[in-house]
Amino acid sequence: MVLAKDIRSEPNLKVGIILPEDKQTSCKLTLAPDSSSKDIEDLLVQIRGDSLLVNGKPQKSYSVSVSQDIINTHPAIRIDSVVAGRGFHWQKNVSMSFLGTLHFYNYNGVLLAINELPLEKYLMCVATSEMGTACPEALIQAQTIVARSFILANAEKKHSDLGFDFCNDDCCQRYHGIDGLSEQSKAGSESTRGIVPVFKGKICDTRYSKSCGGMMESFEAVWNQPNPEYFQVIPDMATNQHDHDLTDEIQFVKWINNPPTAFCSPETIPESELPKYLGGVDESGEYYRWEFSYSQNELTKLISGKSGIHFESIKSLDIVKRGGSGRIIQLTIHGRTTKENSYSLSLDSEYEIRRHLHPGFLFSSAFYVHYNNDDQNIPDSFTLKGAGWGHGAGLCQIGALGMALKGYSSDQIIPHYYPGSHLLKLYS
Ligand SMILES: [Zn+2]
Ligand SMILES: [Zn+2]
Repeated sequence: MVLAKDIRSEPNLKVGIILPEDKQTSCKLTLAPDSSSKDIEDLLVQIRGDSLLVNGKPQKSYSVSVSQDIINTHPAIRIDSVVAGRGFHWQKNVSMSFLGTLHFYNYNGVLLAINELPLEKYLMCVATSEMGTACPEALIQAQTIVARSFILANAEKKHSDLGFDFCNDDCCQRYHGIDGLSEQSKAGSESTRGIVPVFKGKICDTRYSKSCGGMMESFEAVWNQPNPEYFQVIPDMATNQHDHDLTDEIQFVKWINNPPTAFCSPETIPESELPKYLGGVDESGEYYRWEFSYSQNELTKLISGKSGIHFESIKSLDIVKRGGSGRIIQLTIHGRTTKENSYSLSLDSEYEIRRHLHPGFLFSSAFYVHYNNDDQNIPDSFTLKGAGWGHGAGLCQIGALGMALKGYSSDQIIPHYYPGSHLLKLYS
């Protein structure tokens, strides 16, 4: 927990760029003319056993900087080889340019590179790098505020053992140096500089997802940790009043089949128009309400592959527990591993449920299952009918877009998704 009063000036952020898991042992740097290393234009950084060599000379560690006030002219430090898409099938090495300072270390025989830069400069590079140019200003501001607050609250601390705050990839937040910089993202950072939502003096842990599906999920249901008061199960609509209980199976099925109008529903923003505003969306996608069908054989193969348990058939997907938005948080898969042996697999988080029930990742765990032809007790096929995209807690990106297009400002959008919070400028 971070108190708002503890942050009085713009902090620096440390971002891991080349990580030990990349097992990289060298890189080439091209320096801008006004970097801290004046005489040398190109540098070779290498790991040899216990040493770190810079152009062949052993160093304990090595740091190089470009001055901060020159973001407009883009001089930068270029690294020839940085991993992008770490751990994904499309992982590749690309060159990237950075502002601020780069630190290099020998970490148990491999290279560790960390980019240290002022938070607002970092936000200019990440907050809107996925957004289309048609994006309304209020959405860019809301996204920037949420990204800033998430960083300052830094509740996850995934990499503190390696001495940096965030890595440069989807594990934390995708950051490709100044390649993400745009006029829009600069304006988003400048117009909201230092502003975060605060609840009872604490900086809000502003986690967010693509689409809530019409009802926001609690923090507790997704992360199985105590629920901060500003995460509430409320509809993504102009009114907070509702009498839905989506933990109830009958009400949930009704909710899926009779979708209400919400800030994230197609009445507010047609799904075909989303690619114009938000990056990372598929043109043909339907996210507010969606369906996936699997044959018996397909689902059996999928679950066997994901779980490592060799199922011969799948009998049912039993919903044990739903969160407030209807997202399933406990599911038991019943099937047979041989003709004689039945086997039950319990999944205890929306994340694991989404991971097991799609070749990639299921949009959300807010679904019910329709079974086709189960007179043999083994269904021929399964149809998952669901809502939303992502965990659904906190800001709903498509809903925030809907609000911005309807004329709401960022100081109306943020408290809608983090109720009870108010915006505060921590530094100027
Ligand atoms: Zn990370
Ligand atoms: Zn929503």
